[in-house]
Amino acid sequence: AAAAEEPISPPFQVQDKQLLIGGKFVDSASGKTFSTLDPRTGEVIAHVSEGDAEDINRAVSAARKAFDEGPWPRMTAYERSRILLRFADLIEKHNDELAALETWDNGKPYAQAANIEVPMVARLMRYYAGWADKIHGLVVPADGPHHVQVLHEPIGVAGQIIPWNFPLLMFAWKVGPALACGNTVVLKTAEQTPLSALYISKLLHEAGLPDGVINVVSGFGPTAGAALASHMDVDKIAFTGSTDTGKIVLELAARSNLKSVTLELGGKSPFIIMDDADVDHAVELAHFALFFNQGQCCCAGSRTFVHERIYDEFVEKAKARAMKRVVGDPFKNGVEQGPQIDDDQFNKILRYIKYGVESGANLVTGGDRLGDKGYYIQPTIFSDVKDNMKIAQEEIFGPVQSILKFNDLNEVIKRANASQYGLAAGVFTNNLNTANTLTRALRVGTVWVNCFDVFDAAIPFGGYKQSGIGREKGIDSLKNYLQVKAVVTPLKNA
Ligand code: ADP
Repeated sequence: AAAAEEPISPPFQVQDKQLLIGGKFVDSASGKTFSTLDPRTGEVIAHVSEGDAEDINRAVSAARKAFDEGPWPRMTAYERSRILLRFADLIEKHNDELAALETWDNGKPYAQAANIEVPMVARLMRYYAGWADKIHGLVVPADGPHHVQVLHEPIGVAGQIIPWNFPLLMFAWKVGPALACGNTVVLKTAEQTPLSALYISKLLHEAGLPDGVINVVSGFGPTAGAALASHMDVDKIAFTGSTDTGKIVLELAARSNLKSVTLELGGKSPFIIMDDADVDHAVELAHFALFFNQGQCCCAGSRTFVHERIYDEFVEKAKARAMKRVVGDPFKNGVEQGPQIDDDQFNKILRYIKYGVESGANLVTGGDRLGDKGYYIQPTIFSDVKDNMKIAQEEIFGPVQSILKFNDLNEVIKRANASQYGLAAGVFTNNLNTANTLTRALRVGTVWVNCFDVFDAAIPFGGYKQSGIGREKGIDSLKNYLQVKAVVTPLKNA
């Protein structure tokens, strides 16, 4: 359904604030709550139950029981598929409520949530519903007189830890494949954005999901998150967040029960603009690649490499575009950029802007907060950025574009690849040979050629190098949630 003309605007009543365990909304064992804030003002939206290790234990027990004794892994794949399809219908029906909750808790433009992200969540659920009854094993040839089957079974209890930049989409990327494959789930949301996952999980139950198949625990990383990653009865952990935290999760998984781990981590993605490019188009795409979602994307095109022949024109036009960017209340029509998620990120971004200035990069526009309330930051551009500057190496996760100059294809390949990260890249050229050379040379999980941030359900996403382990979405994501069992039987009686 298309978004309503006038968004549902806050303040409105937030219904779901407790933990979801075993199909019921319950208080945390400690009785503690934490507040989730409106990034527009820093004011409290709601007090939410704060889960910690004890609640993770309860949630894992519920998920284990639902896996070992419940109907979910035993029902036909077609029945599971039908539930996911009904879930998608309910997401569409509640599109605007979900979008309003997402915008309030996260600060992203309402139109983006209502017209792009929530519809994408429904699309992803239909995609995974389509897979549910098409997951099957193999019969493979043996050297001797043996009948060999390879079974694909659900892995068990999946622990999932998600970030705050796309709360509903990250929910969908994680929960979709886990459920399609017949697993049960304990999901730990980000402490900045606990609300939408609770609401949408209620819809999942309304669609017919049995109790205990999905459990949602709000809480903090070092307590609830670490308890999930190190739990002895969790079979798999999927994490999206920073590279530093990803390493902790991998270590906790190894130290405990060696649960399998997939990680979707940080990036410093190059966006390479060749000299044959239509400059106006390149400016617009590079702007989108960096500033989309307040710059809070792991795959943001945060190193804009521009060929020296068009560099000056590009910088001028990029400046004009950034100055036109509409920043303001994300519930207002026409707003392109809302506030950053919280005080921490806001201060971190301002710190990086300071590093940029101190290291000698040229501040083209922006560079400061916007207004005196909430976490708004001016769209900021640095030109003359050098590879060794902090702003060219570390993830800023904010509306700060760094423009670098190059003059040769081999040079830009080397520089683009000289990063600890390898999540994504953008390539902008009309020359097929240049495009082919770049797409093969770049050591990244996604290359967008003459486009950026295209996120269809069937396209695998994930990183090379320290950007992660494994892939989400697409057929590859199913492997994360399946065990492989070989069954060998003699063909003749002994
Ligand atoms: P960011 O810095 O962008 O908030 P994080 O990687 O810290 O990114 O957070 C992503 C998710 O990881 C959140 O749900 C957060 O609560 C969780 N998290 C943070 N620290 C830990 C930890 N030590 N163990 C497990 N999860 C964690």
